Amino acid sequence: MAKKDLLDELRVDGDPDLSERDTADTFGWEREEAEALFAEEMVELVELQKKLFADKSASLLVVLQAMDAAGKDSTIRAVMSGLNPAGVDVQPFGVPTEEERGHDYLWRIHAHAPEDGYITVFNRSHYEDVLVVRVKGFAPEKVWKKRYDHIRHFEQMLVDEGTHIVKIFLNVSKDKQKERFEERLERPDKRWKFRLGDLDDRALWDDYMQAYADALEKTSTDDAPWYVVPADKKWARNVCIARILRHHLEKIDPEYPEPDSDVDFDAITVD
Ligand code: AMP
Ligand code: MG
Repeated sequence: MAKKDLLDELRVDGDPDLSERDTADTFGWEREEAEALFAEEMVELVELQKKLFADKSASLLVVLQAMDAAGKDSTIRAVMSGLNPAGVDVQPFGVPTEEERGHDYLWRIHAHAPEDGYITVFNRSHYEDVLVVRVKGFAPEKVWKKRYDHIRHFEQMLVDEGTHIVKIFLNVSKDKQKERFEERLERPDKRWKFRLGDLDDRALWDDYMQAYADALEKTSTDDAPWYVVPADKKWARNVCIARILRHHLEKIDPEYPEPDSDVDFDAITVD
């Protein structure tokens, strides 16, 4: 599938129609082909990130949201591991601490917004405050209902001040989540990832999908768009993510800074 068509298909504009989307979509790629495409995309991403870091005129914020076992961690591993770690910040957001709960919900988020030159990945984010908080009733409706507007304005402010934002929902099926949970239960090296609370969230699957649909619809904007990436097949997912990031880095269009004009580079020899 052509790159532009792929991004158009993944991008949310209005109702994301989550129940209509194929979580196992491979976009016509075979696994080997997708792995080769991913490797090609990573070469481009590496070069773009080097320029972003040198240029220091803008930053990229990548918001990753998903149900448990949808592959947030493995996405970060796959896509970010090839980049220069000096220019990448991965920030997870878990249950708020006592101190964080004592502030507004954007306080802890804003503190981790990226600095010029950097790519910051949020592993969960302020969206939890209209997802888990809504589904589990941690705040009354009159409180979380207002947050979509806050979030849109907050993100627009970051964009206006030089941060590019891309938001990705990893769309996993309930069946695939079951398979991955079972693997976590069986494999000693994966048990650490499993929490009993994950089953409570799984039991509320439909409520979560409704909350995701609302959040995506209300906060996908031209400047801070949401993309829904099919997440059942990791190799197809990786190509999608890399292409989304490449598109947004190309929009930033970073350039290496001009070298020092006082230096005659060809005339200098270093003993
Ligand atoms: P994980 O990302 O799977 O390690 O788990 C982090 C947990 O923190 C998830 O169960 C989230 O639902 C929870 N969490 C993240 N942000 C919030 C929030 N603002 N309020 C309540 N729970 C949250
Ligand atoms: Mg978890």
